[in-house]
Amino acid sequence: NMEEMSDLSIAQAATLKPIREVAAEAEINPEALLQFGDYKAKIDPALLDAPAEGQGKVVLVTGISPTPAGEGKSTVTVGLSDALRLAGEKVMIALREPSLGPIFGIKGGATGGGYSQVLPMEDINMHFTGDFHAITSANNLLVALIDNHIHQGNELNIDPRRIVFRRVLDMNDRSLRSIVSGLGGPTEGVPREAGFDITVASEIMAIFCLAKDIQDLQDRIDNIVFGFTYDRKPVTVKELGGGGAMTMLLKEALKPNLVQTIAGTPALVHGGPFANIAHGCNSLIATQTARRLADIVVTEAGFGADLGAEKFMDIKARAGGFAPDAVVIVATIRALKMHGGLAKDKLKDELDTETSISYLSEGVKNLERHIDNVRGFGVTPVVAINKFTNDSDDELNWLKAWLEERGVKAAVADIWAKGGAGGQELAEAVLNTLDEGNNFKPLYELEDTVAEKVEKIVTTIYRGDGVEFTAAAKRQLKTIAENGWDDLPVCMAKTQYSFSDDAALLGAPDGFTITVRELIPKTGAGFVVALTGAVMTMPGLPKVPAAMKMGVDEDGHAVGLF
Ligand code: ADP
Repeated sequence: NMEEMSDLSIAQAATLKPIREVAAEAEINPEALLQFGDYKAKIDPALLDAPAEGQGKVVLVTGISPTPAGEGKSTVTVGLSDALRLAGEKVMIALREPSLGPIFGIKGGATGGGYSQVLPMEDINMHFTGDFHAITSANNLLVALIDNHIHQGNELNIDPRRIVFRRVLDMNDRSLRSIVSGLGGPTEGVPREAGFDITVASEIMAIFCLAKDIQDLQDRIDNIVFGFTYDRKPVTVKELGGGGAMTMLLKEALKPNLVQTIAGTPALVHGGPFANIAHGCNSLIATQTARRLADIVVTEAGFGADLGAEKFMDIKARAGGFAPDAVVIVATIRALKMHGGLAKDKLKDELDTETSISYLSEGVKNLERHIDNVRGFGVTPVVAINKFTNDSDDELNWLKAWLEERGVKAAVADIWAKGGAGGQELAEAVLNTLDEGNNFKPLYELEDTVAEKVEKIVTTIYRGDGVEFTAAAKRQLKTIAENGWDDLPVCMAKTQYSFSDDAALLGAPDGFTITVRELIPKTGAGFVVALTGAVMTMPGLPKVPAAMKMGVDEDGHAVGLF
């Protein structure tokens, strides 16, 4: 009985192929394969025999505005890829690495679900090949060097109150958001107000995921502005030193990780910035490596299309010089009903068809807005209706007909229960779309000012009336202009639950404005983060964290890990 099986029990029952075989099928030459045991490996892109310039087409998987549980983007990414492989296509997945924060919080892992998962599920969700450790270490080395520099006499005249680079930890830990470091007297460093972010929100993670190669990684690290002097001049890593050591810490991590799906489809799982507070997609190196090895690359951008997909288009695709050839928008009946006003605790109630359809017909406006936005980027959307066992045929048929009437390609995807076999219709719709090509154009020009870019995102993608910059944000806009950072793209930090900056405004809200309370230039990553609403760069744990039901059995295997 599918409903009684957890993602973990399905993953543990699966038979894995040796990773050597997966690599051989993907035509990865053995010299380029660095094995981590039997089922994980890193690929050294420099040693690959495949052509240097990837030609593979890119399918971007995104979604409607999600509910806290997630709507199944990773699951659809995996299931669609298995379906494309079943259809005879040479396909490779490019996914993010999971963060421990959401695993122990509420959201769960990020390796897909049901029969559409990447394996080994336990390893990928915990520690994996150590990339997050490397990123955390490189980040914290920089902060240690900054504090030491100040302690040793502060030759660069760094103002401890204007350090914008924070320590990180891959954990949800609200107690570390704001701290005072350096307490204890003259031998213990210089006291200052400081704080921690979660690793996946860090600039090092963003740099890691946007770097073209190791040299570009080093250059970007050197370009980080970590703070300002007493006379308000930006200070970079290049001036401080230490960029070489940080790059060294990251050199092995920068090689993409190869794993497989339950069906044996190759997957690169690499890098993992959040999409609400960072740019939200796996490493550019993994995507480009996959494009060298496969004809079709299926990749995911986090949270709803207003966040992940917008940043994929305006930041990642621009940085990488490629465009997605199709965009899959994942929608679920339950989330659309919630967008239509059905309360979360009423989701499990039996609704008659009429009531159910009335919620759906209101909630579908959220999907409609995401569809229009994707079309606005010049790329054709395909809606994947991620089927849950509770969905009725009436609901599924109503949604399919609604999409058909509007000329939107759509398919019900039963990939959670059936793996690739449940995704044939979706695969066909995607293949048809790929044949059509795209007219990709980003939303804004780099020449626009940062304020103009934020305006465009808010009015075009979110459909707000406008943007309000707080007094602090206005001062930061001036600093940005004075330092020549206005030509950087913008990385919006916004709640994933709503088009607006208020998590409670579901559906397709209008008549709202967005408040930008802080603008943080990330000159190494190459974007300016715009913080809106109450969004946090260090999340907290919920009242009953998912961690409370996890453990190991008598054989030492994980239990309770979703
Ligand atoms: P996202 O990538 O959008 O955040 P995931 O793919 O990680 O979402 O899925 C979130 C959770 O929902 C996973 O635990 C997964 O097993 C579950 N899930 C996804 N699709 C289905 C489905 N069709 N039926 C039941 N559970 C599902």
